[in-house]
Amino acid sequence: MADTAHFGSRQVPLEDKQALVDDVFHSVARRYDLMNDLMSLGLHRAWKNALVMAVNPPKNLPFALLDIAGGTGDVAFRVIGKGGAATRATVCDINAAMLDVGRERAAALSLGAAVTFAEANAEALPFADKSFDAVTIAFGIRNVPRIDQALAEAFRVLKIGGRFLCLEFSTVDVPGLDRLYDFYSFNVIPTLGRVVAGDAESYRYLVESIRRFPSPQAFAAMLRAAGFARVSFQSMTGGIVALHSGWRL
Ligand code: SAM
Repeated sequence: MADTAHFGSRQVPLEDKQALVDDVFHSVARRYDLMNDLMSLGLHRAWKNALVMAVNPPKNLPFALLDIAGGTGDVAFRVIGKGGAATRATVCDINAAMLDVGRERAAALSLGAAVTFAEANAEALPFADKSFDAVTIAFGIRNVPRIDQALAEAFRVLKIGGRFLCLEFSTVDVPGLDRLYDFYSFNVIPTLGRVVAGDAESYRYLVESIRRFPSPQAFAAMLRAAGFARVSFQSMTGGIVALHSGWRL
């Protein structure tokens, strides 16, 4: 049987998934940041701040970050804000519409040469081996068809001693919160998507893709299989999100 992948709750041929995902983000790019605030009630800011704290860019040394599936640049801009004058971030994303919004935001923030944008697939990164001090991916990995290839690529471009951090939706494990979360996810979010972004379907995909993502324990095993050491994860907000970490040692 040909390889398949989850696209939300559907099984699709593996080679079809990326184009379907690209349509979703092409459709929502202009409203993406507003929708993030509305859908997460602003919580995505706290989750991203936890990621940036873990990246911990130094104030007085050069530091190179690669943010994979970086979209409109949110994580990269936050790392640049926390780091010193020699902090550089590369935002890599497969979707030109998301990167266009990111470039506009970077210009409005006058980030200049601190940030660069690269249109590329997480499964085949156009960067040299061992070229980044840290590699991040926030709410991106579940969209990638071949997760093991993307993890291998993240490992390859990380310097020895560098850290990989992945923020992703996870498994809600608080009784009561799980039912509330289900109701919110399957009713409120698609409605918000329809009203604000004119696209309920894309937001239904996003919710369904969250449910299909491996448990944090299973994802930690995938990080180890990719070669990462000292693999750990931290659940946040009752398990809505987990911050995964691994080192290249
Ligand atoms: N990291 C950003 C954030 O947290 O705001 C954006 C996250 S958005 C939910 C997911 C992003 O993953 C989209 O911008 C999409 O284009 C990107 N993406 C999907 N598949 C990808 C791939 N194979 N390689 C690189 N980026 C990909």
